[in-house]
Amino acid sequence: MYDLVLKNGTLVMPDDVFVGDLAIRGEKIAAVGQGLDAGEARALDVAGKIVLPGAVDPHVHMALPVGGTLSCDDFLAGTKAAASGGVTTIIDFTVGSRESTMPDDLENRLKDAKDSVVDYAFHAEMVGWTPRRLNEMREVAERGVRSFKFFTAYSSSGRRTENGPLLESMRVLAELDALAVVHAEDESIIQATLDQMTDEEKSRMRALALSRPDVCEASAVGSVARLARHAGARVHIMHLSSRLGLEELLNARRDETRITAETCPQYLLLTDDVYERQDARFFSASPALRTAADQEALWGALLENNLSFLSTDHCPFTREQKAWRGRFDRLPYGLPGVELMLPLAYSEGVMKGRFSLSDLAELTSAAAARLYGLYPRKGSLMPGADADVAVVDPEAEWTVKASELRSNCDFSPYEGMPLRGKVVATLSRGEIVCREGRFTGRAGRGRFLAR
Ligand SMILES: [Zn+2]
Repeated sequence: MYDLVLKNGTLVMPDDVFVGDLAIRGEKIAAVGQGLDAGEARALDVAGKIVLPGAVDPHVHMALPVGGTLSCDDFLAGTKAAASGGVTTIIDFTVGSRESTMPDDLENRLKDAKDSVVDYAFHAEMVGWTPRRLNEMREVAERGVRSFKFFTAYSSSGRRTENGPLLESMRVLAELDALAVVHAEDESIIQATLDQMTDEEKSRMRALALSRPDVCEASAVGSVARLARHAGARVHIMHLSSRLGLEELLNARRDETRITAETCPQYLLLTDDVYERQDARFFSASPALRTAADQEALWGALLENNLSFLSTDHCPFTREQKAWRGRFDRLPYGLPGVELMLPLAYSEGVMKGRFSLSDLAELTSAAAARLYGLYPRKGSLMPGADADVAVVDPEAEWTVKASELRSNCDFSPYEGMPLRGKVVATLSRGEIVCREGRFTGRAGRGRFLAR
C-alpha cells in the first residue's frame, strides 16, 4: 500500500520530534508513525538520521542577467545544487524590463526554469513602472504568482520603484491579498555617500560597506512599512542585514503594520572583515556584510521569531566574473548559498544549541511555505503533503570546499568552515533525487508551483 518507507528516522514534525517511520505513496506522504508495515514497499533504513521537511529557499536567482553576464547557475545546475543541500522548493524571480509586460516576463522565466530538478515558484519583479503595470499585476496573480518584488534602489537599471507607484501597487496587492517583497535600501543615501568618496576610496572593497550603511536599510524599511500600512498591504523585507533595519521592522510591527522579514546565512555568519581580505572582491553583495553587533541582533531576532525564516539570496558569480576592474561597484553583486542553507542552519543553529530541530524545520521550510501560500503542500511531513524530504546525518563532520559542491560557482564564502551534519538523501515528491552525494534526479522533473 506504500511505495517507499523511511524506517526508524528521527522525524521532525511541526510540534513533535520522534523516532518512527515515514511512508510515501506516489508523490505524497501517506503516513507517519511507529512500526509502519512496509509490506511490498521499498524500505530505506534511516536509523540515526534526522528526517526533515525538504527545505524551501524562497529567495534565489538562477541565470540572472546582471551587467552583461548571468549568475553562473542556470536552473538545472542551481536546482541540482539545491537538491544536494536538501532544498526541494525554490522561489526565484521573473526578470522584468522597461520594454516587456509582466505576463511576458513570467512566460519567459517559465521557459528558463524548464530544466529544474526540484519544484519552483516565482516572485514577479516590478521594473519600469507605468500605470499599466497595475493590471499586469492582476493578470500575473491570476496565473499563480502571488508575491511581487520591488526595489527601492537601482534606478539606473529601471528597478527602483518610487514611493508613489509603490503605494499604488500596494493598493492593488491589498485588493488581491498578494504580498509585496522588497529589497530595502535607500538609494539617495547610497548616492550621497558615493558622491563624497574619492576614486582612491572606491578602489577598495571596504567602500562597498561604507557606501551602503545600515541606516540606508533602516530608512527604506521604515518608509516601505509606512506605505504598506497606509495601503493595507502585507509586505516582506528580503535579506534584512542590520540591527538598525531590525529596529525599524519592530517599530512598524508595533504600529500593526503587516510586515515580516527574512535574513540569510551570510548576514548571520560573515562580517565586513572579509572586505580587508585578499579575496575581498568575492564578497561583493548587497546589502553589504555588516558587523558582529548586527550578527548578534539578527540571531536574537531569529530566535525570538522577529525574523520569520532563512533564505539565501543565492546569486552566484564565478571568480572570473568577479575579476577586479579597479572599483568595487563594477563587480556583480551576489553570493552562492542554496546548497549550504540547511547544513549551515543545522550546524550553527542546532549543533551550537541556538535552536531546536523543530525550529530548524520552521526556519528552513515551514515558515516560508506558509508566507508564500505553499503550506501544507510544502513545508511539512504531515500526511497529504508532497513527499519532499531532507535526510540529515547528524554525526557527519565535514569541511566546506567549493570544489566539492555542486554549484557552478568556483568559490564558497564559507570555504574551510567545519560543519556538523550533512544531507545524505533528498526526496522530491517521493522520488530520491540525491543520495550519498550522488545526483539521482533528472532535468525537467521539477514543477512550477502556482500559488
Ligand atoms: Zn536577491
